[in-house]
Amino acid sequence: MSRIDEISLEEQPLEWDTHLFRTAVAQYEEALTHADVDAGAAERMRYPETAVMVSVPVRRDDGTWTVFPGYRVLHSSVLGPTKGGIRYDPHVSLGECAALAMWMTWKCALLRLPYGGAKGGVRCDPREMSRDELQRLTRRYTIELLPVIGPEKDIPAPDMATNEQTMAWMMDTYSMQIGHAVPEVVTGKPISIGGSVFRSEATGAGVVMVVDRACHRLGWDLAEQRCVVQGFGNVGGVAARELAGRGAKLLAVSDISGGVYAPAGLDYDHLRKWVDDHGTLAEYPDVEHVSNSELLELPCDILVLAALEEQLTAENTPRVQCRLVVEGANGPTTIEADEILAERGIPVLPDVLTNAGGVTVSYFEWVQDLGRLFWDREEIRARLADKLSDAFDRVWNLAEQQRLSMRSAALVGAIREVAAALDARGIYP
Ligand code: NAD
Repeated sequence: MSRIDEISLEEQPLEWDTHLFRTAVAQYEEALTHADVDAGAAERMRYPETAVMVSVPVRRDDGTWTVFPGYRVLHSSVLGPTKGGIRYDPHVSLGECAALAMWMTWKCALLRLPYGGAKGGVRCDPREMSRDELQRLTRRYTIELLPVIGPEKDIPAPDMATNEQTMAWMMDTYSMQIGHAVPEVVTGKPISIGGSVFRSEATGAGVVMVVDRACHRLGWDLAEQRCVVQGFGNVGGVAARELAGRGAKLLAVSDISGGVYAPAGLDYDHLRKWVDDHGTLAEYPDVEHVSNSELLELPCDILVLAALEEQLTAENTPRVQCRLVVEGANGPTTIEADEILAERGIPVLPDVLTNAGGVTVSYFEWVQDLGRLFWDREEIRARLADKLSDAFDRVWNLAEQQRLSMRSAALVGAIREVAAALDARGIYP
């Protein structure tokens, strides 16, 4: 017998078992201890339902071929079709997709959207590819995924290095196979082919809707709060605009070039125009320039993290001087930082709730496409505020009742939603 035959199946790690997937499972296991759900349902939720690996051949502009690994993981379809982004990045792996798909399940369930979580991507370096190459990659990847995607099955959206144009190519490729336009197969599309107004602002605007609700519960007047926003992109830029629009003081903001700080407050419109004209905040005039790490430690009331993961760590969190941490980005607070913030009595509005505005308006886009109708900006804004307020209130109340952090309460709430559906449907056959 060869060495290969001696390895028992139990010893072999599952294909998606990576560090990130273990992180997702560790969080899940911790939340399970408070969730009181059926053991069978709990076991089911530890696994992705479907994990697809494909190889995507692409003809390069110089006539040669490159074959890229591609993935799509569907974590749970018990509540409806799966939903989640497609990323083009050199670090994409089956395990990364599996972890992100599980997190998407919790986000959708918490918001009571009729979806489960999914995530996919292609392992490539999009910065080294031309637009034509990216188009060919997208179209071939879409065809490889044809057995799993579909408006009633799995609905992709943009993620890292993918955008409206990528979704337009996916929608077109899928529609060509079906024989008619199927806008509802993806979200985050251009408005001209069935995209939704307000989608691009939804995450940042949603962040501030959640902050507003939290201030209400904390007995604070948002208009009197001093705010620091890390990241001035899609999420942070819109969050800064919405905070300023509600009368809060923008004390400091930052982008990849560093931060700008003005104790008397920054003018949002002026910042926006400067970044639109110059690309970054680097040369922004008449303010104090601070590094991104200094920015995190400025005295303020509300600290919005809207740039990257792992920004608050065991090292810098003891020096943070805010009264509320807001996670606009995914995973900006490490587990150790979370513990330090809890010890210091600084509440955290967790990513799974706080940045869910994006997927919620993606859901509105899908509903509009299915119904062949279009809502205006104000209607979408109002519906988003209702959805986020409802989720926030459930998280806040559960946190109070069970003496949990808001992050644990959000996960517990989400896990219970999925477990209830699994319980009601049972296991086939
Ligand atoms: P973006 O690329 O539009 O903006 C990112 C911002 O962060 C930019 O201003 C960039 O300059 C800044 N930045 C980059 N590196 C930095 C660094 N080292 N220090 C400080 N700032 C830095 O991206 P985005 O869409 O705003 O996404 C931000 C975060 O929010 C990501 O974690 C993303 O996964 C998450 N998120 C985005 C959405 C969405 O709908 N866009 C939804 C949910 C979660």
